[in-house]
Amino acid sequence: MGDPVSTQAPSSRILLVDDDAAVREHIATALSDEFVIDTAHDGIQALKHLLRNRPDVIATDIVMPELDGIEFLKTLRGTPSMRLIPVLLISGHAPDELRVEGFEQGADGYLAKPYTLRELRARLRTMVQAARDRAEASRREALEQAEREAVAERATLLESITDPFYALDQDFRFTYINQRAVDYFQRPREQLLGRSLWELFPETAGSRFEMEFRRALLQRRPSEFEALSPISQRWIEVHLYPTPRGVAINFRDITARMQVAEALRESEAARSAGELRQREAAQRDAIRVRLADALRPLRDPAEIESTANQILRDHLQASQVSYVSEPDGPPRMQVEMAQVRDWTPEEAAFIQEFAERITAALERVRIEAQIRDANRRKDEFLATLAHELRNPLAPLRGAVHLLKRSDLTPGHADRAREIMDRQINHMVRLVDDLLDVSRINVGQVNLRNEIVALNTVVLDAVEAARVSIEEGAHSLDVAVCDEPVLLEGDGTRLVQVLQNLLNNAAKYTPAGGRIQINAARSGAEAVISVRDNGPGIPPEAQERIFELFTRVHPSDSIKVSGLGIGLSLARKLVELHNGRIEVSSEGAGRGSEFRVYLPVLQAPADAVLLGAPEGHKRVAGCRVLVVDDNQDAADSVSMLLALDGFETRVAYDGAQAIKEFAQYRPDALLLDIGMPIMDGYEVARRIRADAHGRGTVLCALTGWGQAQDKQRALDAGFDEHLTKPVDPSTLADLLSTAIRRRNVKLP
Ligand code: ADP
Repeated sequence: MGDPVSTQAPSSRILLVDDDAAVREHIATALSDEFVIDTAHDGIQALKHLLRNRPDVIATDIVMPELDGIEFLKTLRGTPSMRLIPVLLISGHAPDELRVEGFEQGADGYLAKPYTLRELRARLRTMVQAARDRAEASRREALEQAEREAVAERATLLESITDPFYALDQDFRFTYINQRAVDYFQRPREQLLGRSLWELFPETAGSRFEMEFRRALLQRRPSEFEALSPISQRWIEVHLYPTPRGVAINFRDITARMQVAEALRESEAARSAGELRQREAAQRDAIRVRLADALRPLRDPAEIESTANQILRDHLQASQVSYVSEPDGPPRMQVEMAQVRDWTPEEAAFIQEFAERITAALERVRIEAQIRDANRRKDEFLATLAHELRNPLAPLRGAVHLLKRSDLTPGHADRAREIMDRQINHMVRLVDDLLDVSRINVGQVNLRNEIVALNTVVLDAVEAARVSIEEGAHSLDVAVCDEPVLLEGDGTRLVQVLQNLLNNAAKYTPAGGRIQINAARSGAEAVISVRDNGPGIPPEAQERIFELFTRVHPSDSIKVSGLGIGLSLARKLVELHNGRIEVSSEGAGRGSEFRVYLPVLQAPADAVLLGAPEGHKRVAGCRVLVVDDNQDAADSVSMLLALDGFETRVAYDGAQAIKEFAQYRPDALLLDIGMPIMDGYEVARRIRADAHGRGTVLCALTGWGQAQDKQRALDAGFDEHLTKPVDPSTLADLLSTAIRRRNVKLP
């Protein structure tokens, strides 16, 4: 009732097929004001349903267990009694190839998820109306046929009735009259005989009858005529025969025949109107086929529109036809005619159907193009990934062989360890990047929000990229910001972004190049630019390089490796910090410049301390308790931290950890989570419950880095959550920063 454009009788029946009960329920309830909705949870149930109740329209999801939307559609189209039921395909999570297949199997409409109820309602309404118009046209035709037959039958019957007959003398007095005629005049015979016609029936005086009768008498020639009788008000056909004494009249009531003729004339007109409608419907069907055939091979959206516009223009003989699609509102056709005319409902529906078919075709090519593009990038990515993962394996294997040798010299052993270290770092970075991208894509990245100094981020990134810059024998100019600028965000992530840009510059610039990194403040923004004098990036590729798996310089043109992830990751991380990233390049061979813009924090003065460069100095003498049930792991981490200047102790299970904590009072605990009997979460909870434990830094170290694992660790009272394998220098930095931060917070 609330919908003012609703025109459907409430009896339109829709069969809704969807395996999601909630969706079925929701749609059925919402649309029940207008439609009778039957539901089925898959194609098989839907077919069973169809045997009982024939719907006006079927709306079916594509992806379903048992019999999916496409198979169901095929079955329908192969069954004569069901072939004509219109089908609306709905899909969202369906693999896109399926949608394309849906069109090929003869779906009448297609709706992509997410869609609004309003869209679904409008779509169903149009489809129901179109189906009804078709049914109505054929019903009318049958009715007219039946009528014509009845009329013909009546005519034959009337023909077989014996005619009335009478005779008049020269003064038009009745001299003879048969029973039929008596019946006709509805007077007793004795009243009629011997009396004049004009006298008995004054209404005939001056009529066509009088005129014809007198002429027959005068001319003495038989004649006949048809006229409406003033006496009976019926049509009669009159035959006049002159007799020696006057004139004999034989007539017959032809009212029925006249009516038949009239009816025939009318039905003739009706029939041609019906035929016209049918012809038009057939024409429309032919146009539908023509349109489908013409659009099927097309890939270019502009060509689809122009081809369809042309077909409709020819069909309507319009001067101009265009497809119009506006963001708010359904697509429609704009038709300009040389002569203004009103459309029949069928024509209007057909024109609208064009708009929908064009939309569906455009949707199809858009999806196809997306699939092709995604597939291409995925294939390229897989090839590159295989290559990238295999690259570090050869040197690793070589190093292992070296270490196994009995004649190994200490020098060789060091070298082998260095190689292994570097290659493992490389692989860890690759896998980390992959994980980061996938987490960001599913929205699972949590930034650790802290206050960091712009210059610290820049210098850390320079430090992290130093090896690759040195490998390329490039010169590096660093210009830090001359005023203290603070940023709010995840320092590690921001360093990762800049490191990535520096690594790219080092990687793509031919050996001996020049790289500059420059940090400055511009109003409310910090701007960090990374510039090189390498191959540059062609203008047409400049937006694309930030897309996942995009590589402009394939590895055979420039001898570099890469997965095409780095810049995509950089952009997403920058955007998570409410910033943006841009590239500019003056063209081939003229270098590239990447600029990162980040909002500047107006922070209280004491925060400067935390982010200042000296914040990363090691805190000598800090006590760290390392807890891991894997004794090797615990020992090695403990040794590495000791080398970095920490005081350390180890514990190999939860109970021992609690005991050590009470005696040793460490500044920080590095806790493995998965331990038998008492796991890391429990240890953390107990330590947080202890008065002395509140100021202790708790750092979880696990093999699982999912967002929910991190959350769980934070909930248990951890300050930090690290994923194994952790880089020892990162660990040392993180622990010292965290310990210092706690010390600042707790006086
Ligand atoms: P990767 O470097 O792993 O291929 P990125 O996403 O970091 O992936 O970079 C995408 C593409 O952008 C690279 O393949 C390269 O073609 C181009 N590119 C990135 N940085 C530079 C640069 N400094 N100079 C020239 N081309 C670059």
